[in-house]
Amino acid sequence: MGEKMKAAVLYGVRDLRVEDIEIPKVKYGEVLVKVGAATTCGTDIKIYQRGYVDRVIKPPTVFGHEWAGTVVEVGKGVPWIQEGMRIRAGNSGPCLRCRMCGREANNLCEDMTWLWGAYAEYIKVPAPIVKVNIQEVPTKLSYAEAALTEPLACCFHGIERCNIDVGDTVVIIGDGPIGLLHLQLARLKGCEKVIVCGLIEERLKIARELGAAKTVNASIEETVKEVMNLTDGHGADVVVEAVGIPTTWEEALRLVGKGGTVLEFGGCPPGTEIRVSTELLHYDEINLLGSFHANPTDFRKALNLIASGAVQVKPLLTKELPLRRISDAFNILTTSKEELKIAIIPQSLN
Ligand SMILES: [Zn+2]
Ligand SMILES: [Zn+2]
Repeated sequence: MGEKMKAAVLYGVRDLRVEDIEIPKVKYGEVLVKVGAATTCGTDIKIYQRGYVDRVIKPPTVFGHEWAGTVVEVGKGVPWIQEGMRIRAGNSGPCLRCRMCGREANNLCEDMTWLWGAYAEYIKVPAPIVKVNIQEVPTKLSYAEAALTEPLACCFHGIERCNIDVGDTVVIIGDGPIGLLHLQLARLKGCEKVIVCGLIEERLKIARELGAAKTVNASIEETVKEVMNLTDGHGADVVVEAVGIPTTWEEALRLVGKGGTVLEFGGCPPGTEIRVSTELLHYDEINLLGSFHANPTDFRKALNLIASGAVQVKPLLTKELPLRRISDAFNILTTSKEELKIAIIPQSLN
């Protein structure tokens, strides 16, 4: 029997338990990290509330995928990582051999190694992730700030697909952490007119503080009217959907202007569909895009965006809780919209 640690194990929908489990053993090419902070994520909330696809996560499993920490053990064959190093790692390691990896679309790898287990005192990083998806965290960044590299990498990957031009009008549907990250990335592309649509005034206030030119807090019908007014009846050049329900995916199509781009970013429940007007695609030449996950290079760039201060993540980190209160964290996030992201601190006893 090895040494034990505390970890939050997901057994199924709304069934998350903090248990004593064995600290993972490090093998060739792997590293063991003491988790400094693990942040909650919209994806975690969806999985907690409704489950998810088996090929990405299969309960029972230790939960959590956004984290950073300190290396405590290094397996053989990893000379570039030392004990004591502050690192963050992506939650995926592409195989580098499949058809999609061969096209540099690592995010669509057909043999991806996924990593769950951030809501624990220790996490073992598998060899495929150690190889291409670990970065050292600059000392000026807290673990929680570095943990936000993961969601930012996904947003960066999505925004890069939109071919945003300087001066484009960008509409973001969603005032959650993902919407607020997209807002900042659009601003970095040189877009002064970024409009954020949401339903929670406190979050829209943060959006304005982070550079939104306008915010809209209204029903879908009112939002469409308002955005058309704000764009002189043309619609936006780029619309980013950052909610993840079919109605807002369809709303995005009503907010885009001729020749514009719609990025459907938020993942919808499995089995759902949307209606798309053939006329819109044909006569208006709309680019309709999806986006999934991120490449190792996106992770590297995302950490740089945070470290350089180009993207601010502190306003998104609204609360900290110790690991033993993880169920409280999910209750807070599923019942109220008060918090954006909660940093789970596994080493904290309070
Ligand atoms: Zn995430
Ligand atoms: Zn692959």
